[in-house]
Amino acid sequence: KESLNQGLQKTKEGFLTRLTKAVAGKSTVDEEVLDNLEDALVSADVGIDTTVQIIKQIEKRVAKDKYINTSELNNLLQQEIENILVDAPEQSYRDFSTPSGNKPYVILVVGVNGVGKTTTIGKLAYNFKKAGKSVLLGAADTFRAAAVDQLTIWSERVGVPIVKQGMGADPGAVAFDTVQSGVARGADVVIIDTAGRLHNKAYLMEELSKISRVIKKVMPDAPHEVLLVLDGSTGQNAVEQARQFTAATDVTALAITKLDGTAKGGVVLAIANQFKIPVKFIGVGEKMEDLLVFDKHEFVDSLFN
Ligand code: GDP
Repeated sequence: KESLNQGLQKTKEGFLTRLTKAVAGKSTVDEEVLDNLEDALVSADVGIDTTVQIIKQIEKRVAKDKYINTSELNNLLQQEIENILVDAPEQSYRDFSTPSGNKPYVILVVGVNGVGKTTTIGKLAYNFKKAGKSVLLGAADTFRAAAVDQLTIWSERVGVPIVKQGMGADPGAVAFDTVQSGVARGADVVIIDTAGRLHNKAYLMEELSKISRVIKKVMPDAPHEVLLVLDGSTGQNAVEQARQFTAATDVTALAITKLDGTAKGGVVLAIANQFKIPVKFIGVGEKMEDLLVFDKHEFVDSLFN
């Protein structure tokens, strides 16, 4: 709770300041308050479409109830924002237990370079290990030598094994080896890093679908999760990346990183609303403890209180 509050502090400060300004000197929610509110949401990077949707809902309530005072507006806004966020379908990450029947539970991690993919994998490994799970990492981003090195550093830091091959190796082969080795070792969780070269969309799509295909040769129902990592501090860029990756592959979950460094955490709403894919994790710092399991109620509560 505390790390969530800290992580969202900048977003909260910016948002609440604007919200306070939006209703300053007003007792009821009128046209002007709604206009100000719209500005406040847009500047928090909630995105135009999502903002308009929220404002419309509030307008409806104002029209229906005739009189809404500005303190009621806060509650209304919280409700509407919570409604927009997608419920995580299962709560297995709460305690980092893995769904039964999937052993190993295979998580494929995708995203553009620099968004915090490797860090997120390290943090996930740390959490699973802490929960008593055996974890195996796979370095299928074979395009950048640095990516394999970084993942190796994380595997040492957390104390979990890693499967890797030489630079330039076939990513599919690394993924195959990793899952096979995970099965052989009886690992609980396998987490596979992938390359994030968005400049070549057809290639990316092909590479990701090939990785999925070869993983299925070892485990037909894997990957069990395709986690897209997005950098929350990049605002609309993150939205654009979400668009491209969801078009390229079946993304099942989102991790939004670097929310600690930005006042634009509203992008979480924009992305959740636009793509209807659950945000399952948020990153609020560089350390391995700085990954939080996303809970929409807690998130909204931290933004307002
Ligand atoms: P990758 O290229 O996507 O694998 O990105 P990295 O995992 O190497 O992360 C890029 C940089 O972002 C590193 O300096 C990380 O420490 C930093 N980083 C990752 N996640 C977070 C986060 O949640 N908060 C902050 N402040 N920094 C982060």
